[in-house]
Amino acid sequence: MGLDDLPLRDNLRGESPYGAPQLDVAIRLNTNENPYAPGGDITASINARTSAATAGLNRYPDRDVVELRTALARYVEDRTGERVGAAQVWPANGSNEVLQQILQAFGGSGRKAIGFEPSYPMHRLICRGTGTEYIPVEPGAGFAVTAEGVRSAIARHNPDVVFLCTPNNPTGTALGPEVLQAAYTATCGVVIVDEAYAEFGDSASAVTLLPGRERLIVVRTLSKALELAGARIGYAVANEAVVDALQLVRLPYHLSSITQAVGLAALEHTDELLNWVDELKRQRDRMAAGLDQLGYVVYASEANFVFFGGIADQSALWQKLLDSSVLIRDVGVPGHLRVTAGTPNETDAFLEAISAITKETTA
Ligand SMILES: *Cc1c(COP(=O)(O)O)cnc(C)c1O
Repeated sequence: MGLDDLPLRDNLRGESPYGAPQLDVAIRLNTNENPYAPGGDITASINARTSAATAGLNRYPDRDVVELRTALARYVEDRTGERVGAAQVWPANGSNEVLQQILQAFGGSGRKAIGFEPSYPMHRLICRGTGTEYIPVEPGAGFAVTAEGVRSAIARHNPDVVFLCTPNNPTGTALGPEVLQAAYTATCGVVIVDEAYAEFGDSASAVTLLPGRERLIVVRTLSKALELAGARIGYAVANEAVVDALQLVRLPYHLSSITQAVGLAALEHTDELLNWVDELKRQRDRMAAGLDQLGYVVYASEANFVFFGGIADQSALWQKLLDSSVLIRDVGVPGHLRVTAGTPNETDAFLEAISAITKETTA
């Protein structure tokens, strides 16, 4: 009995589940998590709020997630300087679930989405899961995504959904506002801007472009800069009508009372949670400088990771690093690998390992 014996949907036949290897290795720099766990004040708030929520677990949670949406709106307003109301915010179990809800509402059978490669593989997989056709737009020189490139891809494919990712995973490159505006003007579909790494970047958030753009959807997460990957909380910021549309496809009570409590507690401490951002950027820049010195091609990153190329055989290098107890990410771009910024010790370990391997193979 295997998958082939089941009456599975045709477009899932022969596919494998997505996920980076979760290996028990000393230095894990492969999934862009924050290496720092929430501090004592934050865990105390989380414990207090979740234990209060526990007392009411016989009841379903707030289906409309009003308190958390209000707190998220305030956070986004603080970070971006743009006025954002709770009615413009929609949270779910990680930004992946937000993306899935967007595709359920705006994609689906007979509809098309485009994305600019290389980018976050979940965009394609969420299309697959929702029966949306995903059209990968192949990269131009240096993986740059330009306003002109975006315009011509939209004209060629006439998509219902456009994925943009800034800073982009895996390249770390941020898109200028002119690229986002060009995409919006060129399409009648929805434009999703995945800002999972926004807090690490120096560019203005796409949230500042929301006024007057009712088909623009900015997707963000507490999983990266805000240290809460394990809590599974992401959110969309968009026009109120988009949020109404997402409520047509969300499951009732999709966000548990425990998750809502964790999110509320964390949002009382965003300054502390963001304390590590500058330190992580320093480690990212140390990695970039070290890789550059070793002769690799390093891409400028506005996120908490570094994408580098000029590798003769990236799977061999990935394996040798793993043999030295350093796990990084092979994102499937030939000649390239991605490494997540870690603690200073993790950065040392990565740089020492890759330097030894590089010198040995070029000696
Ligand atoms: C990590 C990441 C996410 C986060 O997903 P969550 O479901 O919120 O943990 C979203 N988009 C991109 C591009 C990412 O790299």
